[in-house]
Amino acid sequence: MEESKGSRIIMFPLPFPGHFNPMIQLAGIMHHRGFSVTILHTSYNSPDPSRHPHLTFRTIRHNNEGEGGDDPLSQSETSRLDLVSLIRLLKQMYAEPFRESLAAEVGGGDTVCCLVSDAIWGKNTEDAAEEVGVRRVVLRTGGAASFCAFAAFPLLRDKGYFRNKQGSRLDDLVIELPPLKVKDLPVIETNDPEELYRIINDMVEGAKSSSGVIWNTFEDLERLSLMDLNSELQVPIFPIGPFHKHSVDLPPKTKNKEVYETTNWLDKQDPKSVVYASFGSLAAIEEKEFLEIAWGLRNSEQPFLWVVRPGLVRGTEWLESLPCGFVENIGSKGKIVKWADQLEVLAHPGVGAFWTHCGWNSTLESICEGVPMICTPCFTDQLVNARYIVDVWQVGMMLERSKMDRKEIEKVIKGAMIEEGDGMKERSFALKEKANLCLSKDGSSSKNLDKLVTHVLSFDN
Ligand code: UDP
Repeated sequence: MEESKGSRIIMFPLPFPGHFNPMIQLAGIMHHRGFSVTILHTSYNSPDPSRHPHLTFRTIRHNNEGEGGDDPLSQSETSRLDLVSLIRLLKQMYAEPFRESLAAEVGGGDTVCCLVSDAIWGKNTEDAAEEVGVRRVVLRTGGAASFCAFAAFPLLRDKGYFRNKQGSRLDDLVIELPPLKVKDLPVIETNDPEELYRIINDMVEGAKSSSGVIWNTFEDLERLSLMDLNSELQVPIFPIGPFHKHSVDLPPKTKNKEVYETTNWLDKQDPKSVVYASFGSLAAIEEKEFLEIAWGLRNSEQPFLWVVRPGLVRGTEWLESLPCGFVENIGSKGKIVKWADQLEVLAHPGVGAFWTHCGWNSTLESICEGVPMICTPCFTDQLVNARYIVDVWQVGMMLERSKMDRKEIEKVIKGAMIEEGDGMKERSFALKEKANLCLSKDGSSSKNLDKLVTHVLSFDN
């Protein structure tokens, strides 16, 4: 797109993989359309710029870094925090440095077309953008249905739904948000529930006052939720996902030994025989749950690839709580790794089901490869995503965390892999086709991307 040549976009991602990765993918998409993109990123979870040579990276440092040794965002300090406290701290520590960095970028010469900030940063970024006269577009890295639930928080709170979440009415329908049940409401266990409401409210209000919201979803997947959001937010919305399927020039991937070994192992498996199990980059589980998962996978007698991220199991380093000889006994039937190239794994013909925590990226990635899911959501939007996967799109089976013992796990895996989950595979394939179509020349996401480009270019005038 010639008309975008020379126009510059500044992006401000939240520093977690499930947020950072889609922002980088969006940067790739906009770069492909002729924009130059600068990523302002926090020193917390700082990325490796050499992996994205087409983008410019600037580090934002907060004021307590350096020699003093009292950095509240150091690994040792943050490992003690729950997610809500960590997000609160990130928002607080980087607000002022972000404002300064944005001002320096905007004052630095070439015209800045707009700022794209992660929705979770909320209204902080709005004030900073306004100060330097730059329009702000928001990227929401989660789905549209879960955002509808977040937007309804004040109403749900007034009606006492969150009190029910601790009570006995967990299976009641939330009549304002069907098909969600009380147990699906996107909250998280935290020491500070008020802060959770503040973060969510700030996210929703920040979206309402933005110049537009970009969504990593597609119309055929979330049409009704997107329509609701259109009237709720009253700003232009751009569902242009799935981001990772846009054709852009990507730098070659660097593969480490573990990734090579995983591919070799997958190559040896029968088509659609492998259960791929991974619970994302943030969720943590108890040791007891870990052992049930291990035995459930083993007893299912299906080949499995299991990502056990260091830090996944509370209070342990990695696999040390597995019984002695467990890994040796599995032999080549199962493979446990610390990290996988998930996009590559899901696209591999050997994979037959994805046992997932239903993070939005994982959900979309699975849909795009037509892989049916086993859903064990842990918190926030994962709970909503799981309900949609199981009840609306019907491409997955629920395996609730509270019911997750080895017998149930074995039963659900066999149900998904052997009994073929009652048409689940066919529906997964059909949904994959829809995801492909939305990115074709006349597909909804391609058209929405054209609209987005026109929209942000109009800010220059
Ligand atoms: N991911 C990966 N390898 C892994 C686990 C996760 O590449 O072993 C990627 C996955 O493809 C997805 C992201 O990390 O893009 C996780 O995002 P998601 O929204 O699914 O979950 P979160 O980590 O935010 O809970």
